[in-house]
Amino acid sequence: MKIKRRLRSAIESAAARTGVLNRFERGARHGFTILTYHRVLPAERCAHAPFPSLVMPDVAFREQMRRLASQFEVTTISAGLARITSGELPERPLVAVTFDDGYVDNATHAAPILNEFGLRGTFFLVHDFVVHGRELWFERVARLEAATPALVERLKGLDTAERERTVDELCSAASAEPAEERDGPMSRAQVLALIDAGHEIGSHTLTHPILTRSDTASLGREVRESKLGLEGWLGAEVPGFCYPNGDNDERVQAVVRDAGYRWACSTDAGRNHAPLARFELQRIDVTPSRVTDHNGAYSELAFRSEISLLRSALRGGEAR
Ligand SMILES: [Zn+2]
Repeated sequence: MKIKRRLRSAIESAAARTGVLNRFERGARHGFTILTYHRVLPAERCAHAPFPSLVMPDVAFREQMRRLASQFEVTTISAGLARITSGELPERPLVAVTFDDGYVDNATHAAPILNEFGLRGTFFLVHDFVVHGRELWFERVARLEAATPALVERLKGLDTAERERTVDELCSAASAEPAEERDGPMSRAQVLALIDAGHEIGSHTLTHPILTRSDTASLGREVRESKLGLEGWLGAEVPGFCYPNGDNDERVQAVVRDAGYRWACSTDAGRNHAPLARFELQRIDVTPSRVTDHNGAYSELAFRSEISLLRSALRGGEAR
């Protein structure tokens, strides 16, 4: 891993020296780049989180936002889509910063840093987690002693009803510890404060199921009731949607469109261009390991390589 990262750093330094990285960065001028984050915490708390790969240390996050504030026009997704559709591109490339799931640290650690630089983000909330305080199923699984990433992946493959039954059984069999220590969701007051500050709220379903594996009834409920529920709870429109795990297909997209959402995000890596695929918006996942060098220190070069899609091209992906 260390050798791989060392090699990666060397290639990226060469790309920066030779102007290749610059060329990739200029590509961002013609599209809308959307970044994915989940959680932001002080470095000393990151390692203790159930899924460390989803937690960005606050110091690194601040450096990333500083870079975005100086080089990009940072918008909510709705505002960015309106800009792309109008055909009037801003001077600087458009980027959106998004957060999935609705953890409390979004309000206590991420939003203050966004606000510090005058940036506005888009926050996707899992309805039952934020409105009812119901623990996310993968967090419940993570508290099991026997939990492994492979187990979580296996559970993602089950349909919603079967997954919930299995998680219930696993947890009661293991008499999992009560969730006192767990990190909860944002409160209603915290979400309302985000809206007041100009941030945007989107839906991320009721319970975070894999929608492509959900039957018609539960798919409809997860998509529609999360929108109506959040709108009632907040007294504000919830214009966008985010597919759990990014998983979507034509059937899922049709339900999302019919529910009145204006757009939806996947987790496919790429940049968005006109004509927009509004219900398959691509995003770039920014995880701690992707933005650190071989010594584990935050690397701005790595961040630039990731969000310019240079990395994706090196991995054999598509960069348009
Ligand atoms: Zn999620």
